[in-house]
Amino acid sequence: MAFDYDLYVIGAGSGGVRAARMSASFGARVAIAEDRYLGGTCVNVGCIPKKLLVYASHYSSDFSDARAFGWDVPDPAFHWPQLIDNKDREIARLNGVYERMLGKADAELVRGRANVIDAHTVEVNGKRRSADRILIATGGWPSIPDIPGREFAISSNEAFFLKQFPKRVIVVGGSYIAVEFAGIFNGLGAETALVYRGPLFLRGFDRDLRECLAEEMRKKEVELIFNENITRIDKTGADLAATLSDGNARYADLILYATGRRPNTAGIGLEKAGVRLDDEGAIVVNDQYQSSVPSIFAIGDVTNRVNLTPVATAEGSALAQSLFGGQPSTVDYRDIPTCIFSQPSLSCVGLTEEEARDQYGDIAVYKSNFTPLRHTLTGSGERTLMKLIVDRATDRVVGAHMVGAEAGEIIQGIAIAMKAGATKAQFDATIGIHPTAAEEFVTMREPA
Ligand code: NDP
Repeated sequence: MAFDYDLYVIGAGSGGVRAARMSASFGARVAIAEDRYLGGTCVNVGCIPKKLLVYASHYSSDFSDARAFGWDVPDPAFHWPQLIDNKDREIARLNGVYERMLGKADAELVRGRANVIDAHTVEVNGKRRSADRILIATGGWPSIPDIPGREFAISSNEAFFLKQFPKRVIVVGGSYIAVEFAGIFNGLGAETALVYRGPLFLRGFDRDLRECLAEEMRKKEVELIFNENITRIDKTGADLAATLSDGNARYADLILYATGRRPNTAGIGLEKAGVRLDDEGAIVVNDQYQSSVPSIFAIGDVTNRVNLTPVATAEGSALAQSLFGGQPSTVDYRDIPTCIFSQPSLSCVGLTEEEARDQYGDIAVYKSNFTPLRHTLTGSGERTLMKLIVDRATDRVVGAHMVGAEAGEIIQGIAIAMKAGATKAQFDATIGIHPTAAEEFVTMREPA
């Protein structure tokens, strides 16, 4: 049977666009449907605008630190609308870049909401088109628990477009988005509290790092409220009152929920087409990104596995290679580095101390906790923590962790060494760059 397209991609986010462009470059006839913005979460309401806001929020401490270096800095004023306008301009530019990239690659962009009709048919704006393969790359969407007054809370989606900068903010959740936004609001001058239901945030990360970051955030006057949750939200005038599980009320101008994201699988015909979803609504795929319907594939957050942009793009490349590049490919999910753009940032690759102990038994742990050179003058009290985990039997470094300035920039390099199977002896044989924080990773001599 002749199909209209070789591949019909639904969702023009990081994963979908990569798969579409690369498949087209291999000669496939490709269409890609998008009903919202080009570039998906990362470009529009995720990584990119978030990092711009993180940059903005650093200036408050930069201005005060500058005084320690002899600069006479008058009290600076911050203008949120100017930041948001500039951010919006940059995002609009990136939307254009994505559109041009698709055009150059000869992938046909279809604006509108797509519906999967059957294993080989997609409908957009009432028009049905057939495709040999369909790729679902619709990403995820913030999920806010159903508590009384949830309509008064916002998610990260709205946080990027606030008309007014709030004076008092409560952030709910204890993972990437909550921690990053708590740092952003605090750095930009809001009185900020983070409410997390467990005893210590960032579950799943190395315990030393979690404790270190909690201490650093408290030094910056973010109020961390652990072992609590919000049971209801009431609005009186401009005030939002959040009732905590202990019965106490906290007041704020803004309550931001960062309590996870759900795969975007509702209302696009997947169940009717026979695509199997898991309990969370994620598309279940095999190691070739194939769903229970052999001609329908899925990559990225909609599969709810490793919800990171670079993973989605890597999956898009692997799929295109496999389907149209004549080279069956998959992504290696081991040792994926990650960074939380908190203040200071937290980044890691490989196993936590706890995981390494379970997996290898006999491990050596190296730690370095120090005042970074910059802060010897500022007196801010900020500390940097670095940690290496080594499997004693092979001497291989199996985990690297850091809380400190530019942790992501440093761990990215360490991740290459780990991917190459570097041993602790090879770390030790590497000459440091002096004076940097990163050199500590090659000068840790005594196990803790
Ligand atoms: P996560 O799914 O990572 O974490 C959700 C957080 O909310 C957890 O702390 C969880 O607590 C808490 N939570 C869940 N349900 C409730 C509830 N009903 N009441 C109170 N608390 C609740 O979500 P995020 O929203 O932070 O991030 C989504 C994904 O986006 C992440 O998995 C990450 O992969 C990606 N991301 C990556 C970034 C980066 O690379 N820098 C930045 C931002 C997002 P508990 O721990 O107890 O389950």
